[in-house]
Amino acid sequence: MSHQPAVATKMSGEMDKPLISLHLVDSDSSLAKVPDEAPKVGILGSGDFARSLATRLVGSGFKVVVGSRNPKRTAGLFPSAAQVTFQEEAVSSPEVIFVAVFREHYASLCSLSEQLVGKILVDVSNPTEQEHLQHRESNAEYLASLFPTCTVVKAFNVISAWTLQAGPRDGNRQVPICSDQPEAKRAVSEMALAMGFMPVDMGSLASAREVEAMPLRLLPAWKVPTLLALGLFVCFYAYNFVRDVLQPYMQESQNKFFKLPVSVVNTTLPCVAYVLLSLVYLPGVLAAALQLQRGTKYQRFPDWLDHWLQHRKQIGLLSFFCAALHALYSFCLPLRRAHRYDLVNLAVKQVLANKSHLWVEEEVWRMEIYLSLGVLALGTLSLLAVTSLPSIANSLNWREFSFVQSSLGFVALVLSTLHTLTYGWTRAFEESRYKFYLPPTFTLTLLVPCVIILAKALFLLPCISRRLTRIRRGWERDGAIKFTMPTDHALAEKTSHV
Ligand code: NAP
Repeated sequence: MSHQPAVATKMSGEMDKPLISLHLVDSDSSLAKVPDEAPKVGILGSGDFARSLATRLVGSGFKVVVGSRNPKRTAGLFPSAAQVTFQEEAVSSPEVIFVAVFREHYASLCSLSEQLVGKILVDVSNPTEQEHLQHRESNAEYLASLFPTCTVVKAFNVISAWTLQAGPRDGNRQVPICSDQPEAKRAVSEMALAMGFMPVDMGSLASAREVEAMPLRLLPAWKVPTLLALGLFVCFYAYNFVRDVLQPYMQESQNKFFKLPVSVVNTTLPCVAYVLLSLVYLPGVLAAALQLQRGTKYQRFPDWLDHWLQHRKQIGLLSFFCAALHALYSFCLPLRRAHRYDLVNLAVKQVLANKSHLWVEEEVWRMEIYLSLGVLALGTLSLLAVTSLPSIANSLNWREFSFVQSSLGFVALVLSTLHTLTYGWTRAFEESRYKFYLPPTFTLTLLVPCVIILAKALFLLPCISRRLTRIRRGWERDGAIKFTMPTDHALAEKTSHV
C-alpha cells in the first residue's frame, strides 16, 4: 500500500493552521473546495467523531467521503466539501477508511467486506472501562478478525472529537499508532502529520490494547503521591488539632475551635510541604547508600525504591502546591476577625499595664529572617516546579536540568529547614510547648530533612564522594557485574566477569 498524501509534505505549515469549525469551513471558500487531485479519505459513521474528523481532514487538504446508513439525514451536519453518501459508495474509492463507529456495530459493516478488500481500516474506537476488562482482544484486533483481507491501523483514539475540531494544541498532539503493516502505519502517520498531530509508533497491532487503555487512565502517576500527600495532611491536621484546639479546650476550658478552618490548616500545610520535599530527596540518598554498600551500580534497586524514584516529580509538585497554599493562607491571617480582636486586646492590655512601647528585638529579627527564608524557599520551589514542565525541561540540556532539579532542589530543602528552625527558635526547649506531652509539630518535620542534609554532607567527604563517583562510572568493588534473576531464587545471582 503506498498511499502518500501530497499534503503531508507541508506538515509544519499545517500545524500553524487556525482553528477550524463547521461554519468556518463552509464560510471560507478556500477550505470549502478541495482540489480534485487531493488524496481521498473515507469515513464510516456520521457521529461526533466522524464530523470533527471530516472537518479537520477537509481543512488539511484531503478529499473526504463519509459513509452513513442515512446520508440524507446527516449530510447537513458535515462541511459542504465533504461528500456524504451510503456506506457502499463511500468505501469504494478511498484507500484509507476511518471506522468511526462503536465496536458493537463493527459486525454490521461485514456486508461491505468485498468492497473493503486490500484497504486500510483505521480503528479510532475507545472501549469503556468495563468493555476493556471484558474483552481480552482489543477493538482493533477484533476489527482485523472481521476483515482479514484489510490492514487495520489503530490510531487517533486518544484524540477527542473536540480536539480534532479545534485543532491540535500542546499536550494532546501525540497520536499513538500501531499496525502489523509498516506501509499502512506510515500512510496513517503521514495523514496525522498533515493534520498537525504528532504520530508515535507503538509497534504492531498487539499493542492496540495498550493504546486503547490510554484514554481510560486517570492520572496514574499521581495516585500514590496524592494519597501520600492526603495521608500526611490528615495525620498532621489531627496532630495540630489535638495540640492547638483539644488541649486548650480540655485543660484550660478555652474554646479554640474557630482555628479549624484557617489556623490549623495553615500550620498543617507547611508540615506537609516540607515532609514531601524531603521525600523527594530521601530516595536519592537511599540509592547512593545502597550503591556504596553493594559496591556496584549494576544491581537493580528494590521495586519500592524504583517506584519512589520515579514519582519524585509528582511528590515535588505536590510539595510546591502545599507551600503555595501555605503562603496564601499566611497572607489571609491578618484579615481574620480573630486576629483583629487579638490585636485590640493586646493594645488594651498594654494601656492597662501602662506600657507605651512594645518592641522585642529578638522577636523582630526572628520574624524578619523567618519570613525572608520562607519567601526564598517558595521562590526556589517555584523554579523547580516550572522547570519540571515538559516544554521547559525539553529546552534544558541534561546538565542544566540536573543542576536545577538536584542542586537547586537541595538548596530549597536547606532554605525550608532554616525557615522551620527560625520559626521554631527556642520553642522546642520550652516545657509549656509540650501540650499533652506532644512535641511541637515543627520538631517532627525536621527529622527526615536533617537526616538527608547530614547524609548529603557525608557524601561530600572526599573518601566517600570519590568512591561514589567511581561506582557511578562503572567501577565495581569485586570487579564483577552481578545479574539478579528476579524469579528463580536458586539462580539468584549470576556473575559475569567483564
Ligand atoms: P456517535 O456520535 O454515536 O456516532 C457513531 C456512529 O456510528 C453513528 O453516527 C452511526 O452513523 C454509525 N453507525 C454505523 N453503524 C451503526 C449501527 N449498526 N448502529 C448505530 N450506529 C452505527 O459516536 P462517536 O462519538 O462519533 O464515536 C464513534 C467512534 O469514535 C467510537 O468508536 C468512539 O469510541 C470513537 N472515539 C470518539 C471520540 C469522541 O470524542 N467522540 C474520541 C475518540 C474516539 P450512521 O447512522 O450515519 O451510520
